[in-house]
Amino acid sequence: MKSNPDIKKVVRQHAEMAEFFSGGLTVKTSATQTQASDTEHPASRIEKRAASIEAIKELEDIAGQTRKCHKCELGSLRKNAVPGEGNTSARIMFVGEAPGADEDTQGRPFVGRAGQLLDKIIAACGLKRQDVWIGNILKCRPPDNRDPKPEEIIACIPYLQRQIELINPEIIVALGAHAAKTLLDTPKAIGQLRGMFHEYAPGIGHKPIKLMPTFHPAYLLRNYSDDNRRKVWEDMKKVLAELGLPVPQKTGK
Ligand code: URA
Repeated sequence: MKSNPDIKKVVRQHAEMAEFFSGGLTVKTSATQTQASDTEHPASRIEKRAASIEAIKELEDIAGQTRKCHKCELGSLRKNAVPGEGNTSARIMFVGEAPGADEDTQGRPFVGRAGQLLDKIIAACGLKRQDVWIGNILKCRPPDNRDPKPEEIIACIPYLQRQIELINPEIIVALGAHAAKTLLDTPKAIGQLRGMFHEYAPGIGHKPIKLMPTFHPAYLLRNYSDDNRRKVWEDMKKVLAELGLPVPQKTGK
């Protein structure tokens, strides 16, 4: 991680990301075109069904377990575990890599710079953060945001696997290489995986779940180009279409 980010560059990136992911987008409704941010999806379209009380209780129990977890060395390095959060009846689950410094401080997923970009991507889809569930492969921050170690993934992944089974989303969006490779159990690069649906295999007795890999928001911020932003937007449009949700159209530029 750079200790001294170029502030002007960061501000410019944010302004342009905001423009790309929230500006100039409309959602086509039957008769009119409305700004995406003004459009409410009926809850019935976003929430597939109410999660059972037992499922909600178990999700809370998992969150509690992660906060006490010492299955790997990250347990003694964290300020806070980040179990994941969101709509327990979500049709879409976003899965990232691991908490960063901001997430470790707050105990919440995607609340730093990458999280602000994820919020814009979600808003560009005509959705709100409360409509979806957001979590990570690892529940604790690796020091200096280094890559997760295989033994950390092996120790931690049962929490996410069970969260996925309980929430049972229609689509998982894997954010970045670590999430995509782990959930698909493949060595393939994110560039090869993204742009098409794959299948995530939950435990016995559960149906496969469609998984769309896309670039991690932090990668987008580092590898900042129209082409990369367009690719993420193409991936998200496929997710919306698959769910039968309105696909916002870019207007103008
Ligand atoms: N990056 C991730 O992969 N997850 C977070 O929660 C924050 C940043």
